[in-house]
Amino acid sequence: MSNQLSERVQKMSTSATLAMAAKARELRNEGKDIIGLSLGEPDFNIPDFVKEAAKQAIDDNYSSYTPVDGYAELKRAISKKFKRDNDLDYDVRQIVVSTGAKQSLFNVAMVVLNPKDEVILPAPYWVSYSDIVKLTEALPVEVPTSIETDFKMTPEQLEAAITPKTKMLWFSSPCNPSGSVYGKKELEALVEVLKKHPQIIVVSDEIYEHINFKGSGHVSIAGIEGMYDRTVTVNGVSKAFAMTGWRIGYIGAPEWIAKGCTKLQGQVTSGANAIAQRATIAALEASKSKIQYMIDEFHRRRDLVLGLLENIDGFNVNVPEGAFYVFPDVSAFFGKTLNGTKINNASDFALYLLERANVATVTGEAFGNPNCIRISYAASETELKEAISRIAKVV
Ligand code: PMP
Ligand code: GLU
Repeated sequence: MSNQLSERVQKMSTSATLAMAAKARELRNEGKDIIGLSLGEPDFNIPDFVKEAAKQAIDDNYSSYTPVDGYAELKRAISKKFKRDNDLDYDVRQIVVSTGAKQSLFNVAMVVLNPKDEVILPAPYWVSYSDIVKLTEALPVEVPTSIETDFKMTPEQLEAAITPKTKMLWFSSPCNPSGSVYGKKELEALVEVLKKHPQIIVVSDEIYEHINFKGSGHVSIAGIEGMYDRTVTVNGVSKAFAMTGWRIGYIGAPEWIAKGCTKLQGQVTSGANAIAQRATIAALEASKSKIQYMIDEFHRRRDLVLGLLENIDGFNVNVPEGAFYVFPDVSAFFGKTLNGTKINNASDFALYLLERANVATVTGEAFGNPNCIRISYAASETELKEAISRIAKVV
């Protein structure tokens, strides 16, 4: 039978982050010495106390289907975590555990959006947002930001993007890919605009909450007056606990949205992995001091990478205050020919770095910003130094 993929899937883009990681893996298998800075994945091992909880869960026979929305004990731990870290009161009925924050986000989009609804995505945004929106047949409305505003959307830009069809504002802080962190005042200014448009639901992706180097810490938009009943707070354990492969994410949301997600999930996955859910209880109940070493290390690497990139002409970098990415504007190279290769855009540039420097990065085009590339610094200091020295040589 010839290729009969649905139009829906034909129209989708492949996840650029995962595609670049796969390409790097393939080249490595061919014997090339590729340094992979494309995937946003902590290079630490899962903390031992989390592993122990998972082993215990196997021995305790947590092997049946779990409740669709997650174990009651886990939802209680999440509820406590929201209170402890974010001062948010989410009852267990407002919490749904899913197979990674990616599924949490997908669920929310599926249960809230109708075809032709508009979704405001401050760009750069995380690679999957736009394709998830398109899968629901809603329309992504990108609001471009630039390095001049530290890649943050201003209230004026938000106001200008809103139409009667706007249903959702969807963003991450700390932001993947820019590392930008919205402070309280900045969020309050956006909320002032949102107050005039009560039909808009906010999806606040806070998966990098703990990887935040800003002295004033993390602010959840749901905690700002008037926002609690119209915000979905998304989080997970992939980043702060280095548990990417364990696939646990969760939401705190208005109850009607949580119910919709559970209904959807009941027909799609039946619920998240049992062992990983038990391990997540241990992760979320632990004090932040148990993961501080990873956060400190990311902070050191951020400074290292910024210092090294500063010496390369043509790389214009903001100071990312969270997550583990730098997002340099490399548009100074566009139109130039480097070692015989014409660079027209960020995709050409990322490909050039892969082929000539053996360093995998991701084009900013995938994140809605065609001037930048994303470099993940979730890699060892040695790898980072070597990668940036290789980049410097080929540009
Ligand atoms: N949101 C953002 C901003 C991310 O970077 C990621 C990382 N993949 C996710 C959500 C999804 O995380 P996961 O599905 O691994 O929980
Ligand atoms: N969030 C990571 C990234 O942006 C993981 C890859 C993915 O899930 O797309 O690289």
